[in-house]
Amino acid sequence: MNNRSTGDEPQIWEIKKFLDDLESVKEDVLDLFDANPEASSFDSMWKVDLRDLYFSAVSSWQLLKSCPSLEGKERVTRAQNAMQFLEAAEEKFQQVLSEVKTVQDEKSEHLEHRLREAFRQVADSLREAIQSYMPERRGTPPKKHVIKAGPMEYHLPCSLCGEIAVSFTLGPISEDGGGKINYKGITKSTTLDYQLNELIFGLLDEGKIRQVHKHLRNNTFIEDGIDAYCPKCDKIYCKDHYVTRVVYDQGFYDCTYGTCPVGHERIIDD
Ligand SMILES: [Zn+2]
Ligand SMILES: [Zn+2]
Repeated sequence: MNNRSTGDEPQIWEIKKFLDDLESVKEDVLDLFDANPEASSFDSMWKVDLRDLYFSAVSSWQLLKSCPSLEGKERVTRAQNAMQFLEAAEEKFQQVLSEVKTVQDEKSEHLEHRLREAFRQVADSLREAIQSYMPERRGTPPKKHVIKAGPMEYHLPCSLCGEIAVSFTLGPISEDGGGKINYKGITKSTTLDYQLNELIFGLLDEGKIRQVHKHLRNNTFIEDGIDAYCPKCDKIYCKDHYVTRVVYDQGFYDCTYGTCPVGHERIIDD
C-alpha cells in the first residue's frame, strides 16, 4: 500500500524556489564581503556564518522533503530534526544580518533588505510545512507551578502548556558537603555551587519562584534570573511560549531577549 501524501509535495518544491533565491542573495553578500575586506578582519568568519545560514536552511528542507514518504513516529522525528535545522538557520540569520550591517557600502543596505526578504520567505514556508508533520500540542496548564520530581529535583512547568521549562537538580554531594546544583532553563544549562545556594531548594519547596528568580539575579552569575520566567506575569513559560530573539552586534553574540505571550519583553541572557 502506498501511503505517500503526494498532495504535500508541490508546497515542498515551492520552498526550493525560495531557497534558490536565498542562494543568489548569499552569492551577492559573499561578493560584498570580498569587495570590502577592510570592513573587518573577521571577513572569513562572516563567510562561514553566511554559508552556515544557507546550508542549515537547505538541510532543514532536505529533511522536510523526506517526511511525506515516512509514517508515524519516524515522520514526527524527521520533522523535529527539520525544525532544529530551521532554528539554527534563524539564529545564524540574526548573526549574518549584524555582519552585513557592519559593512559601510552603498550596496549593503539594499542587500540587507534582500537578505531579510529572501530568508523570511524560506523560514516562514519551511516552518509552515514542517509543522504540518508535527503532532498538535495538546498541553494543558499545570496544576502546580513547582513540581517536586525527586528528593532534590524540582521542575517548573510552562504556565500555559505544562511542558517542563526549567529544572533544578542536586548533583552528588562530597564528604565536606560540597556539590553542584544543575540548572536547566530555556536558553542555558549551568551549575551553581550548592553550599552558597542551598536555600533555592527551600524556596522551591514553598513554591516561591519569584524569590528564586531574585536570588539568582542578586547572588549568582545567572544575572538575568530564571530565563523562562516573566516577572511581570509572575509566570514560567516554555521555549515555545516565551519567544526568544538572539541579538548579535557586528557578528558577536550580544544578548537574548524573551517575549512572553502577553508581550512583556526583557533580556533573559546577557
Ligand atoms: Zn509576561
Ligand atoms: Zn508552553
